[in-house]
Amino acid sequence: PTTAASKGKDESVRVVVRCRPMSEKEQESGCERVVNIDGQRRQISIRKPTSEISQRSTGDDGHTFFFDAVYDWNSKQTDVYEQTARPLVDSVIEGFNGTIFAYGQTGTGKTFTMEGVRSQVELRGIIPSSFAHIFDAIAHTTSRQFLVRASYLEIYNESIRDLLSKDQNKRLQLQEHPKEGVHVHDLSSFITKNMQEIEHVMNTGNLNRSTGATNMNEHSSRSHAIFMITVESSETGADGQAHIRVGKLNLVDLAGSERQAKTGSTGDRFKEATNINLSLSVLGNVISALVDGNSHVPYRDSKLTRLLQNSLGGNSKTIMIATLGPADYNYDESLTTLRYANRAK
Ligand code: ADP
Ligand code: MG
Repeated sequence: PTTAASKGKDESVRVVVRCRPMSEKEQESGCERVVNIDGQRRQISIRKPTSEISQRSTGDDGHTFFFDAVYDWNSKQTDVYEQTARPLVDSVIEGFNGTIFAYGQTGTGKTFTMEGVRSQVELRGIIPSSFAHIFDAIAHTTSRQFLVRASYLEIYNESIRDLLSKDQNKRLQLQEHPKEGVHVHDLSSFITKNMQEIEHVMNTGNLNRSTGATNMNEHSSRSHAIFMITVESSETGADGQAHIRVGKLNLVDLAGSERQAKTGSTGDRFKEATNINLSLSVLGNVISALVDGNSHVPYRDSKLTRLLQNSLGGNSKTIMIATLGPADYNYDESLTTLRYANRAK
């Protein structure tokens, strides 16, 4: 079969799609499934709900897309980790930067895919699986000394909050360092020596994330959460010198992609909605510019892309996981998500 590699396509950006199962509520209310997936062919099709197809159909009733991988409602957390995330995390351990995004409408499984269900090992998402992977790799490498650090931040309304800081009212600024590139000034980072310690860091951040919000669901649908892991390793070369490698892993649970402005909001809410739409569309522009090999990549157009500038493009690997729901009433949003993801290939 012709793979992306055999065609010489740039493999630094991979785009995969995951469709969650029908919820109980959707099943009970008799929703129709409008999504079809052929995992072998890496193909996903979506068709307009029967109720919406008019007599004078314009041929706009079905759409088929191909991605680097397509996961249906039966996919397991380990399938997604082993096939999609693991190679990227391996390259971070080797000293490269990597970013994994979960993109999609609220309620389609971004948090399920990134975090999963903490109490059940088999439902563990990409973030805790990467913890296990990293510390396991370290335990099995004797030639190098490792240092793992974790940070956790959130971008809400274009302002950055350190989820690990004692002062949750403080807002952080981006700084451009001549050598190290763009970084968040004053961002806390914790050295973690094992799975328990890094999980503790994640739990602390999650707690801070929810305590500041009056409505957690609404808050998480309007903010980007970024868990950052820095893996530094040092090895003594034949010359007797220490050779240091630094890899950075960014795990991003994006704000909901649903069109925020349609509620007819005004004032602060309107500004907030505009910022979310803008930052997601800038992210799409950045990824598509990277894939197309454009000389101008518009990193500077949003906080999110500026912040991740050193981890997008160049030697870095990027994975976009687009999540969607299978039901008829989500047709428009699901199609929008597939088109966004398709543009990022
Ligand atoms: P989002 O973060 O995109 O808003 P969530 O991750 O909170 O969405 O998922 C919404 C609901 O759907 C949750 O109850 C979650 O457990 C469930 N869910 C999402 N994806 C899956 C999946 N692949 N398999 C089983 N349940 C899922
Ligand atoms: Mg979520």
